[in-house]
Parts: sequence; structure tokens; C-alpha cells
Amino acid sequence: MRSSYKILKVFGISVELHITFLLTLLGFFILSWMSDGLISGIQTLIFFVILFTVVVLHELSHSIVAILNGIKVTRITLLPIGGVASIEIPDKPVVELMMAIAGPFFNFVMAFFCVLLLGLMVPLAEIPTLLQGLEDPSILLSSVQGILILLLWVNLMLGIFNLVPAFPMDGGRIFRSILAIFMDYTRATRIAVNVGRILAVVMVVLGLFKNPWLLVIGALIFFVGGQEYRVVALRQSLRGLTVTQIAVPRMDYVNGDVILREFLNLIAKPGVEFYPVINESRVVIGVLRLEDLRGLGQENLNDPVRKFVRKPDVVDGKKKVEDAVMELMVKDFVLVVESGQVIGYTTPKHLNEVARFQNVLGS
Ligand SMILES: [Zn+2]
Repeated sequence: MRSSYKILKVFGISVELHITFLLTLLGFFILSWMSDGLISGIQTLIFFVILFTVVVLHELSHSIVAILNGIKVTRITLLPIGGVASIEIPDKPVVELMMAIAGPFFNFVMAFFCVLLLGLMVPLAEIPTLLQGLEDPSILLSSVQGILILLLWVNLMLGIFNLVPAFPMDGGRIFRSILAIFMDYTRATRIAVNVGRILAVVMVVLGLFKNPWLLVIGALIFFVGGQEYRVVALRQSLRGLTVTQIAVPRMDYVNGDVILREFLNLIAKPGVEFYPVINESRVVIGVLRLEDLRGLGQENLNDPVRKFVRKPDVVDGKKKVEDAVMELMVKDFVLVVESGQVIGYTTPKHLNEVARFQNVLGS
């Protein structure tokens, strides 16, 4: 089953709904239908459509600034806790600062326009009172004024919440890029990640008593922050090297015609999880992963191993490691290719080992 479904494509970026998002939406719809009737269910749906349209526009604001600075953006995924744009982390602090600010900036501009439009309908002094009466979606969605109040609230919340200085939220990136003006990038990241983690713990504690959403976001911040730091630290240690230079050249190739029984008895060995599979012309046709063979029955033992290969992830060996770190860290086995020739592989574990070695050399 796929985990994300594409709904549209803008500026070459595909906007996708994650399955957990769809299930949460469906859950809220059914809950409110069962407790207050179908109309209420539909209003809940409209409420979420408005909320997440604003979330997509927020993510698009980041993405446009990224694209203008030559950084690739592949997709925006909507999760129940918000949107995630897959943007490579730029290594210029100023670019990161502009990219990070763009999202909340968009929300505040939109909030400003909501206040302007509302000002044409009601005295400005009444707006705070209107914002307090937000609980009832049926009133909000029944008039233009109500929808503007809803949009104002959504934008203010998104803008303010995202400024909390904790990765992966925008505030964390803004904080890091400002620190990075005064110190080296790795140290700036470490400080920003630690501050974010303290805030994450606060969120988890608050979440336990107040709001489960906060609990999930706090936990996420805690883990993603650490991941962000590892990527930056790896980049720092491996700066200047090409992927070929760090690749492991020796591999246990397996002929695709070898039957599974023979592979398991004679070729597979402890500690080696991945085996590139080749055809008679010695061209790699896929990768065999031990984990994929788990659960196969007796009836498969006489099948050739090429039946069980998966498409290999490949990386251009000429690439600089610092530019490839993100893709190398998220895939568990990557073949390194130069001029159409497989010359080795890398794994996240190997990458960490090389980095540790480089640190020893450099210290
Ligand atoms: Zn953002």
C-alpha cells in the first residue's frame, strides 16, 4: 500500500496527502457526523480543508524561496500534524534564514489582510471578541465574516506556533541560521537542536495534561532535531570528499540464476545484509536484501534469486558527499555508480564510520 497520495502539482512540486492524514480526516468526519449529524460532519471537513489549504500555502512559501535560490523541492506532504516540504538543507545561513522566514511571513501577511477585510465589516475593536467565539464551526462557516475570522485565527496560530525555536519548525531554522552568522554551522546546529529539545520536553509535558497534538509534535521535534544534527555533523566531517572516495569497493555479487537454497547455504553470510545481483553480462540487475527473504516458504527454495531482488538505489560517485548526505542517510544501501559502472556501495552505518575516521584524522 502506498503511504502518500498525490493531489496536485504546482511549480513542479507534488503535493501529497499522507495516509495518516486521510485517516485522521475521515475519523474527525465520522465522529462529528455521529455526534451532531451529517451537516456537522461536512462542516468539520470544510474546516480541515481551509486549515490545510493554509498549511500548503505556508509550505509553498518556503518552497518558492528555495527554488529561487536554486534549491530543489520535490514534494510537500500533508501529515495530521502539519505539512512537510522535502527541501534540501541549504548550507548558506542567509538562504536558510530567508527560506525559514517565508512560511510564517506568509501567514502574518494573510492574517493582516483578514483584519483589513474584517475592518470593512465590523469595528476593529470587536475582532478580539470574535476570535474568542471560535468554538462553533457552524457559525464560522455560515458567513463571509465567520470564514475571515477562521482564516485569521488559523494564520495567526500557524505563524506564531512555527516561530517556536525548535527543529524541524521554522523557528528552529531561523534560530540556527542567526547563530551560524556568529559561529560555525555545526556548533550553531548543536545549540539550536539542544534548545529545541528542551522546548520539546516542555511540549510533551504540556501535551500530557492539555493537548495530545502537542505531545506528538513535541516527540517529533525531539527525534527530528537529533537527525538534523547528525546530517550537519556528517557534512562537516566529510566535506571535500566525493562519494567514490568513501564507497566500499568490495562487494559480494550474486548471479541472478543462483537458486535461493544455494544462496542461503553457500553465499549469504552473517553481517552482510545486501547483495548486488548480476546477470550473465555481469550487469547489476538489482539488490537482494536478506530481510526480504524472511518469511519465504519451502516452495521458494528452488527459485532463482533474481525473483526476489529490489530496484537498487544508486548515487553518482562524482557527487560531493556533502551534497549527497541527505539521500545517503535515508536509504539503507546505495550503489555507487561512475560512468555507468557500479564501483561500490555505501550505507548510513558506513558513512558514520568514515566520518568518525575523518574526525580522528582532522583532530
Ligand atoms: Zn514552515
